[in-house]
Amino acid sequence: MKNFRLTEKEVKTLAKRYPTPFLVASLDKVEENYQFMRRHLPRAGVFYAMKANPTPEILSRLAGLGAHFDVASAGEMEILHELGVDGSQMIYANPVKDRRGLEAAQKFNVRRFTFDDPTEIPKMAEAVPGADVLVRIAVRNNKALVDLNTKFGAPVEEALDLLLTAQKAGLHAMGICFHVGSQSLSTAAYEEALLVARKLFDEAEEMGMHLTDLDIGGGFPVPDAHGLNVDLAAMMEAINKQIDRLFPDTAVWTEPGRYMCGTAVNLVTSVIGTKNRGEKPWYILDEGIYGCFSGIMYDHWTYPLHCFGKGAKKPSTFGGPSCDGIDVLYRDFMAPELKIGDNVLVTEMGAYTSVSATRFNGFYLAPTIIFEQQPEYEARITDDNEIKDKAAV
Ligand SMILES: *Cc1c(COP(=O)(O)O)cnc(C)c1O
Repeated sequence: MKNFRLTEKEVKTLAKRYPTPFLVASLDKVEENYQFMRRHLPRAGVFYAMKANPTPEILSRLAGLGAHFDVASAGEMEILHELGVDGSQMIYANPVKDRRGLEAAQKFNVRRFTFDDPTEIPKMAEAVPGADVLVRIAVRNNKALVDLNTKFGAPVEEALDLLLTAQKAGLHAMGICFHVGSQSLSTAAYEEALLVARKLFDEAEEMGMHLTDLDIGGGFPVPDAHGLNVDLAAMMEAINKQIDRLFPDTAVWTEPGRYMCGTAVNLVTSVIGTKNRGEKPWYILDEGIYGCFSGIMYDHWTYPLHCFGKGAKKPSTFGGPSCDGIDVLYRDFMAPELKIGDNVLVTEMGAYTSVSATRFNGFYLAPTIIFEQQPEYEARITDDNEIKDKAAV
């Protein structure tokens, strides 16, 4: 799979049409990522974890393809509701739910919930009586970029007690869920977690609780990310095979976030200032760490930077526009000489970027532009056809 990447010409024409900084999202690329997962992991239905990127057009495209959604708050449910997504297509997968979230769940008919502590049971029993609940278990994975199992997940040996207690409170014990950690590069982590879950399903059956659903969470890596050396098709197929073997009759779900749109969005930003510090050039961009580059802090991520100028490359420092010393984005990046007004392109900007951008220092949020609504999209299709026509002659 090829990542979505604007050409130099496209960057320049778009930057004439819209003031920088802005993001360009490719819905076709999101769709390709979705279909790739459906093809290689057909046993798992998709709850897209919208916290990674809640751009309405992305949500609508995914809803149209049949995706369901993982939500964590009233605000996320409201966004989906406005797009016409029914609560029955959502899982409230935040183990700790607040009052507004539970009220919204009741209002929008969200039926499916996860939890990892007994204190959640009376909250759910009161607000959403009879709801379907899945207990989230803690699993191990030392090959994930972001470990979620220090904060989330009940100890495995407490999981069935939690489901029994939920059942006694009038909730419907539906299944088990886990999350191996984000940007997981290990198939083994999923396989081990599946084995643990199988054991719990069997023990539940012996206790008279028939579990029907298993949710294997998110964590799938951004495909072809910078320096990533993982065969995603093989990873998904191995997991699918293990699901077939261990859970032939169970409804299985996954909650991909970063995987779905990480590669589908580009940032176009411009140089607004330059300086020379000890022979080393500095470039100040109009987007920084308090904006879409927030993922450098929150998501431990680096984004591929592309400069278009010609000439000898020098180790250069790139900073954002804010008045904070922490707002440095790249150090010793080999860049050609750039001038004020030059555009630079940043790819793989789709997950955990714009959604955690702030208006620190009063800078405006970078808007997201949809590539498929731009003339450049039509031009690409025409160019493709011309190439095919020529090949046919
Ligand atoms: C964040 C989150 C996800 C998505 O994680 P990714 O690593 O982006 O795939 C899925 N499920 C839950 C419960 C989450 O909190």
